[in-house]
Amino acid sequence: DVRRVLLLELVNSDGTRAWSECVAESLPSYSPDTVDSCWLAISEWLAPRLAGATFTTPRDVNGALSLGIRGHRMARAALEMGVWALDAERRGLSLAALLFTESATSRAGGAMPRALVDTGVAIGIQGSANELADRARAAVAEGYRRIRIKIEPGRDVEPARDVREAVGDAVPVVVDANASYSLDDTTHVLALESLDTLGLWMIEQPLGSEDLVRHAELQRRMRTRLCLDESITSDARAEEMLRLGSARGVNLKAGRVGGFTEALAIHDRCTRAGTALWCGGMLETGIGRAYNVALASLPGFTEPGDLSPSARYWARDITEPEWTMSATGQVQVPLERAGIGVAVREDAIDDLTTRRLVIGS
Ligand code: MG
Repeated sequence: DVRRVLLLELVNSDGTRAWSECVAESLPSYSPDTVDSCWLAISEWLAPRLAGATFTTPRDVNGALSLGIRGHRMARAALEMGVWALDAERRGLSLAALLFTESATSRAGGAMPRALVDTGVAIGIQGSANELADRARAAVAEGYRRIRIKIEPGRDVEPARDVREAVGDAVPVVVDANASYSLDDTTHVLALESLDTLGLWMIEQPLGSEDLVRHAELQRRMRTRLCLDESITSDARAEEMLRLGSARGVNLKAGRVGGFTEALAIHDRCTRAGTALWCGGMLETGIGRAYNVALASLPGFTEPGDLSPSARYWARDITEPEWTMSATGQVQVPLERAGIGVAVREDAIDDLTTRRLVIGS
């Protein structure tokens, strides 16, 4: 019900402005990065590297932020992605169009970024089986094109089967284990084997985030495609995943990999390899969502993204317009507007702000 959010406003020397969002959460449960660790990293080590500096392209920012700094990817991404938006704004391009021109495989394809992006929904672990099935059915009725449910040991095979039956064979169902299974535990292995019989679209991140080798072992035994989320923290990790055969899909979150430069590299690598790719979400506000929509408009994203409309998460979003989804489960990419494509309600941000820091002059 409550989300602490770290927002940045970047200002270029010509007066161009862009808002960006750090996707870190309050606690280090999904990623080692948190709102507070990112605040520290941005204010102490990262933002001072950009303040007053000159860059030729946003790609150079990635190098400047990663030189001599390990980790802190979500903090780096918040700045780096903001610079991409700043550059798009400055050049009068939509962020989606800018990313498209910077993606090697997109350019080679010769097409344009998508104007409409397919949307899936993520449903958390529910109290009862009926509740879960009802929510899944309601999501399909709303138009969502893919259902993803969270699972954990002991609450996996039955919920997955219930949802599979509730929504019918035409709707892809993905289960996301958030790294909660181990091949050393027999009950876990039995559960994974049962999940493999359900005709699931993908099984996401069953094993630990460091476990590329064991994921490869598991993928060899499974018919169902595995998909990695937490494990893929960089393009180098994506390369290792492909070489080892650890999975056949990637849930790409630009914040997790340090920003758009790495995300574009992973997009291009997965496209060349024919690997399933989709854009995940971190319960962002409308600002972070704008970056996800732009990324998901690239042609290499083969699966519906976690791009739920603003109203799913927020009483009122901080962007104008709010993000909406069509009755057929698609989000429109604002290709006609420069930058992130939505206006930011700065008065609303002021009202919600508890802490503020200005870096640079
Ligand atoms: Mg996940």
